Amino acid sequence: FLEGRVALVTGSTSGIGLAIAQGLGAAGARVAVNGLGSAAQVGAAVDAVRLAGAPDARHFDADLSDAAAIEKMMAALAEWGPADIVVNCAGVQHTAPIAEMPTATWDKLIAINLSAAFHTMRLALPGMAARGYGRVVNIASVHGLVASVNKSPYVASKFGLVGMSKVAGLEYAGAGSRDTGGVTVNCVCPGWVETPLIEPQIAARAEAVGGDRDAGVRELLREKQPSGRMSLPAEIADTVLWLCRRQSHNLTGAAIPIDGGWTAQ
Ligand code: NAD
Repeated sequence: FLEGRVALVTGSTSGIGLAIAQGLGAAGARVAVNGLGSAAQVGAAVDAVRLAGAPDARHFDADLSDAAAIEKMMAALAEWGPADIVVNCAGVQHTAPIAEMPTATWDKLIAINLSAAFHTMRLALPGMAARGYGRVVNIASVHGLVASVNKSPYVASKFGLVGMSKVAGLEYAGAGSRDTGGVTVNCVCPGWVETPLIEPQIAARAEAVGGDRDAGVRELLREKQPSGRMSLPAEIADTVLWLCRRQSHNLTGAAIPIDGGWTAQ
């Protein structure tokens, strides 16, 4: 159902972003892949998106902590695309108590997890409005809805992303029509998802209980995710696809938890 559409997925060389890029490609969109990694990792991600069914896929290089690099990427994308769908998925984590959080880490985390989405949105939304269809899906987190200790920049960035998405949802609520699909801006808020991002936290839990990786996973889930199950990246991608449907034109400014009941408590 996305034939003829173009999608940018930031942070799609790994984890959730890669699964979203594959899902959008499988639905027929041309996909702009973005993210860090070796030439081999980037090449493998682009190949995986093509293999999933994308009519075309290309890597758009940009370190998202650099606003000028984002502007350059969006200018190149405007020629290849322009983007009908922007999924801001790039994100990093660093855990430490607030008094021990390095200030450079704070700045970098806010730049990648929050400011980068501001830049892609400000550059992509006007074109979406002009064409009558657009989807921005920001991959926030349960940590955009509730806090946990030792994650000050991460929680601040994700709460910021949820708030900024509501503002953009309002600003573009009147764009397009039911027939064109309108322009919507939403957040998806996952709990624990099985990706490389959370491996250091699993390892820390495993060490704390003196067990193996499975014990670390159990410990992590037991604390806050009542389902006791992690999500898989492809399951997060399914919700993103649903938001991209024309029929979802009235679903905007929302923050959708996929957290096994974490934020229901
Ligand atoms: P991941 O580490 O597998 O992937 C992160 C991606 O972001 C990679 O492609 C990486 O290259 C890219 N990236 C990092 N810094 C970048 C930069 N400066 N410029 C460009 N790209 C950069 O992580 P993931 O678990 O797939 O996380 C994806 C998103 O989902 C993040 O925003 C994360 O906060 C969010 N999230 C993850 C979980 C989880 O449990 N894994 C839960 C909730 C939210």
